Amino acid sequence: MNEASQNGAPAAPGAILAALAGNPNSGKTTVFNNLTGARQHVGNYPGVTVEKKEGHFRHGGRDVHVIDLPGTYSLTAYTPEEAVARNVIIEERPAVVVDIVDASNLERNLYLTTQLMELEAPLVLVLNMSDVARQRGHAIDVKRLSALFNVRIVETVGHRSEGMDQLKDAILEVAAGAAAFSPAPLHYGDDIERELAALTAVVGREGADTTTCRPRWVALKLLENDEVVRAQASARMSQPQADALMAAVRAARDRLAAKLGDDAEILIADRRYGFISGACQEAVKTTVESRHSTSDRIDMVMTHRVLSIPIFLAMMYAVFKLTFTLGEPPMGWIEALFGWLGGVVAGGWAPGSESLLKSLLVDGIIGGVGGVIVFLPNILLLFLAIAILEDSGYMARAAFIMDRFMHQLGLHGKSFIPLLIGFGCTVPAIMATRTLETRRDRLITMLVAPLISCGARLPIYALIIPAFFPAAWHARMLWIIYLIGIGLAVVCARLLGRTLFRGESTPFVMELPPYRWPTLKGIAIHMWERGQLYLRKAGTIILGVSVIMWALATFPRKQTFEHDHEAQVAAVAVLVLDDAEKGRRVAEIEQARQAEELAYTIAGRIGHALEPVLAPLGFDWRIGTGLIGAFAAKEVFVAQMGIVFALGEAGQDSTALREKLRANYTPLQAFCIMLFCLVSAPCMATIAVTRRESNSWKWALFQLGGLTALAYVLTLIVFQVGCLLGLGAR
Ligand code: GDP
Ligand code: MG
Repeated sequence: MNEASQNGAPAAPGAILAALAGNPNSGKTTVFNNLTGARQHVGNYPGVTVEKKEGHFRHGGRDVHVIDLPGTYSLTAYTPEEAVARNVIIEERPAVVVDIVDASNLERNLYLTTQLMELEAPLVLVLNMSDVARQRGHAIDVKRLSALFNVRIVETVGHRSEGMDQLKDAILEVAAGAAAFSPAPLHYGDDIERELAALTAVVGREGADTTTCRPRWVALKLLENDEVVRAQASARMSQPQADALMAAVRAARDRLAAKLGDDAEILIADRRYGFISGACQEAVKTTVESRHSTSDRIDMVMTHRVLSIPIFLAMMYAVFKLTFTLGEPPMGWIEALFGWLGGVVAGGWAPGSESLLKSLLVDGIIGGVGGVIVFLPNILLLFLAIAILEDSGYMARAAFIMDRFMHQLGLHGKSFIPLLIGFGCTVPAIMATRTLETRRDRLITMLVAPLISCGARLPIYALIIPAFFPAAWHARMLWIIYLIGIGLAVVCARLLGRTLFRGESTPFVMELPPYRWPTLKGIAIHMWERGQLYLRKAGTIILGVSVIMWALATFPRKQTFEHDHEAQVAAVAVLVLDDAEKGRRVAEIEQARQAEELAYTIAGRIGHALEPVLAPLGFDWRIGTGLIGAFAAKEVFVAQMGIVFALGEAGQDSTALREKLRANYTPLQAFCIMLFCLVSAPCMATIAVTRRESNSWKWALFQLGGLTALAYVLTLIVFQVGCLLGLGAR
């Protein structure tokens, strides 16, 4: 296309090159005439019968050379006009692309804008026909739209020459590289982005020419099946290279089609419309007609100002209800399976015999890992529900609905999704913060995410609540604990936003993609991608920690006891006549011996060492040892309490353990345990993933230290005030 510019009016040396793009009938030629007056030249693009108009103007001491590109709705290469417009932008690299949109028909016109953003062209967005828009009652919040697209916007009325000076100013500003605006490519959602990233790497590696356009753009076009880009890319590489690239493209398209149930170009277009639709919902009152009328009709209800909230709450309730109701039977099966496995392994030893290996296998490994796998059905079901909500498009609406509330926290509506996932497990929640656009929002969300009570804390509550509170209060207590977590997350997010992360939450568009039926394969894969993280945690961290915790609670082994255990048992055998009473007494002696053993072990000693620190919170050394386990993984606390109270294989619903707890602690202490477990140091997996996603130890350690300190102070206050109020009594 280089020879083309020689056809046109010669640009003065040092002139700024500006290209006018826009849909047909957006008023492009009118604006072009306003800008250049009579100083224009009409020719043809070489080889095609597409008219080429060029002209120039002077403004602010600079010469600006203007090209009026053919009017197009898109930048595919299906029509000669589109190909010409695209090639001028790619090959002549104008210093400014002026995108003229018909403001009275904003949604449709902005589609081209999203494609110009993908080319990472320096952009000025002209809202022409703003008179018509006003007449039709569309109030456009220009400042907001400008912030959402991160682009300079000028409002004009072409046939009345209104706004031309502002447009000229804007052209000079953007040409000078006004850093405030840099339109960026859209985010196409994890699945497409992953394929894009892989293809971008192949494009770079296989040596497609990327001197004129970025590899990401080439990859995107290939994914969209753009024949021109494909031909150009192949022409610049050897046959085997081209074959490798095309094979990669085909595989990526196939994967996306299988997962999301549609062709890549349709999915990509949907994301663009979703982006535009979301932006217009936010920046324009009285939205214009849109391509997706069915989605719009659903949205009339789903994002209705009043109805949306109860619908949303009902959806969330349904998700939790389903998760727990459907999760119950498989939980029972898994418990039974691990119980059976423990029995089989224990069967390898003579009954009653003491063996370190048996204890390691049965109490340490099978008990520890089993206690975690039990929650897999719950977690998978929650992720299944979330995958359905995401793939159908409802999750985007949920974020939209929650946006106003999230803004109160200084966060964006999109932060809501990671926090919601946090009810399942904090690890995938923190990974989901990747979808947030700014580092500020990502970090705040990551840091407060552990306060959303995850599935692993549930066994702790399930153990403690029935032990200390009347049945009528069970559900209510659980609610209160969850609400405390949510409330603290809110307060902490606000605090962080006002202190460490001062500044406005940069606005970005919340896409409203069209609703679509999720595919079975898609939701299965999405559920599995997250569930697998939990399983891996059970398989690695928790396995390792179970062994370590077992060792800490086993060694060093006490050899001599204060009381002669066997003599006591013998005495009971002689003195007590009633058989039931005899059994009970023997068991008590046995437990006392085990507790004495435990106190002697490393875990017991750490617990004792921690006691002075923990005593003001109402915790004794036994809770201290449990809390050490809870840091490894929250659910370990329960297993740990079982060991501490010498109940070996005590599970979360063990009535014996509950009786022990009731005998040893008050309801106030019980509440403090739950509070501390809720707020304190998130589990190791969370710290590790925070470190990875924030790419800094600083924030991981800040999360660890901050939350632990917060837990300490809160629990201290609750316990001390509770005691003053006389709640400390048994
Ligand atoms: P193009 O196809 O994008 O080149 O559009 P034109 O420049 O040929 O304009 C199409 C029609 O819209 C013409 O009749 C213009 O007079 C009219 N027009 C251009 N700008 C405006 C505007 O801001 N407001 C109104 N009401 N009409 C406009
Ligand atoms: Mg025209």
